[in-house]
Amino acid sequence: MRTEEQLRADIVELGRRLWERGYVASNDGNISARIDERRLITTPKSVSKGFMTPEMMVITDYDGKKLSGDRDPSSELKMHLQVYRDRPDARAVVHAHPPTATAFAVAGIPLDRAVLAEVVTTLGSIPIAEYATPSTDELPAACSKYLKAHDGLLLANHGALAIGPDLYTAYHRMETIEHFAKISLATRMLGRENLLSREEVQRLQGLRGMYGIAAPAPVCTDDNVTLGAGGQADCQVVQAPWAPTGTRLVANDPGLETRHERTLASLASLGGDGEIRLTYRELTALIEDAVRNLK
Ligand SMILES: [Zn+2]
Repeated sequence: MRTEEQLRADIVELGRRLWERGYVASNDGNISARIDERRLITTPKSVSKGFMTPEMMVITDYDGKKLSGDRDPSSELKMHLQVYRDRPDARAVVHAHPPTATAFAVAGIPLDRAVLAEVVTTLGSIPIAEYATPSTDELPAACSKYLKAHDGLLLANHGALAIGPDLYTAYHRMETIEHFAKISLATRMLGRENLLSREEVQRLQGLRGMYGIAAPAPVCTDDNVTLGAGGQADCQVVQAPWAPTGTRLVANDPGLETRHERTLASLASLGGDGEIRLTYRELTALIEDAVRNLK
């Protein structure tokens, strides 16, 4: 376990990285870590995270009451306290406003599509906690819905939150969230996004044990999050379609175009009435095509 002195140095270093990477502007963002069962250490308010020194840190209890330090903690500490209440395994929290991930949070688009194997294996999905005024008690409550099942969250019209078993892991998760957001944005600008199949998602998550990754929750069986005790999500929504037997990637395989055309042809030949059976995949392809034509 890291000593208090090491934690102070880690927070200074990670604050510098947040600022250098443009994940925070002005005095935005905050970082915290558990010191022991009674105390946590956190960044001071009204200071650029790029220019902190070890002695600036504030030590509080788990109710947010200051125990030592010349400065005061951020008003967003409440959100960190909620993480430590909901996740006994979490030892560190990083909150920032990385621009691309925050843009998804502003657009109301969660980062929950299975496009990157690495992200599926590590974070799973990154949902959006409903909007709440920063620094109020509503924000921790909005986050709490997702905290048990996720290691990374977007905060609607605000920013992102990453949690981990130590400071560096929490920080690296913040990097992954922003990197994933940038790739998702570029992919959507290119106009095409090939999703991994649900089978592949399950295979990737099955590999977690091999890499020593402890996932907070399994993938939800459908596209709706299920709420467990206390109204908290107990699974992760990952957008990944079922693939036909034998294929691993859903879109773009050579047969798809032909099958798609066949489906359209059979639809046309039916005329007005009659029943047609579509596979999930065919239905998805038709809907995606219709949406594409709308744009
Ligand atoms: Zn913030």
